[in-house]
Amino acid sequence: MLTQSLCARWQVAGPAEAGSRELTALAEAHGTPLFATRAAMLDERLAQLRAMLPAGMRVLYSVKANARPEVLARLGLLVDGFDVASSAELELARAAAAPGSVLAMTGPGKRDDDLAAALAADAVVVLESLDEGARLARAAGERRPRVLLRINPPFELAAESRMSGGPRKFGVDSEQAGAALAGIGELPLDFLGFHIYPGSNCLNAQAIANGMHATLSLAAELAAQAPAPVRVLNLGGGFGIPCLPGEASLALDRLGESLGRLASEASRRLPEATLCVELGRFLVGEAGVYLSRVVERKVSRGRVYLILDGGLNHHWQATGALEGRRHLHYPIWVVGGAGRPMESVTVCGPLCAPHDTWAEHLNLPRAEPGDLVAVFQSGAYTTAISPGDFMLRPPPAQLLV
Ligand SMILES: *Cc1c(COP(=O)(O)O)cnc(C)c1O
Repeated sequence: MLTQSLCARWQVAGPAEAGSRELTALAEAHGTPLFATRAAMLDERLAQLRAMLPAGMRVLYSVKANARPEVLARLGLLVDGFDVASSAELELARAAAAPGSVLAMTGPGKRDDDLAAALAADAVVVLESLDEGARLARAAGERRPRVLLRINPPFELAAESRMSGGPRKFGVDSEQAGAALAGIGELPLDFLGFHIYPGSNCLNAQAIANGMHATLSLAAELAAQAPAPVRVLNLGGGFGIPCLPGEASLALDRLGESLGRLASEASRRLPEATLCVELGRFLVGEAGVYLSRVVERKVSRGRVYLILDGGLNHHWQATGALEGRRHLHYPIWVVGGAGRPMESVTVCGPLCAPHDTWAEHLNLPRAEPGDLVAVFQSGAYTTAISPGDFMLRPPPAQLLV
């Protein structure tokens, strides 16, 4: 179902489809493997998101999801700011940001050179501890840097990647927030508000909304101890995209309704606060496709193997290399393959490693060497999190189209 709907979106369902012709031409011009991100899909995604979010809610893009400069340049026209995790990401975001947009640096273990880069760029620093605030204040000299305090709340988001609740390296535990806020009040820092990020890649609108409502309540409680009125509340995000069989898109209409109620509650409880969300994969993930070519079709003891020229070295997250996922697979299709007989295949990458496998027992149109295979939902967390040095195969081309 997911693969079918993505084939329709990318228009690769049949041999004469426009998308198949376009992807084939890209592969011929740039070689394979390659990542292509469709600019129009970034535009559409932002339009869809803006239509759902309450008026005035800001959207920050988390650069770590995809830091390609051409992608950042496009997003710079669409978002209200960038969330970065290092000084190198900050430089890229700065180059892409529209005038007046926000730059914010988040992440545990910011070094002094990261803080110095944030100061030089006049970025908001999301403090992960009071000690970090003290280091920032020492580096700031006469300046009064703008800061948010990241809180580790008592709750978590039931998501693929949980980043709050229990002991965490992220932020300041909510029980210790009072002491941290008092400490910030004694430092030459401009306290703007709170940042609470419970987790990533959640497809359950109700869970996300519940987390954000709990975040607002917590921030409203902590506001009483804050050294200044709360002017910014970063609600996190965690909006997921469907990548595996059986997953469905986030119910944006439901989320939108709930966030509408949240915004009116926030206007009563934190009247000076601008609300923001901070999103990575949701903004870029669906706009990207990974294309690789079949190098070999071989039969081993009755099983058909398609061996592609790209694998986990480029796109670790989409292969079965992740623990417990070998039987699940990303949406994969043979470009231009509609109408051919289907066969059950194991799709592999080229590495001498058994876990370099895209899918097992997958029904695909019959493919031969030279055919192009598309892996959809491939715009986020691709090369950035993949072991590209493993076996030293060439890096993929990366294009905005
Ligand atoms: C990773 C991260 C994000 C983005 O996560 P996505 O799942 O890509 O939306 C946003 N904020 C923080 C603090 C993060 O660590």
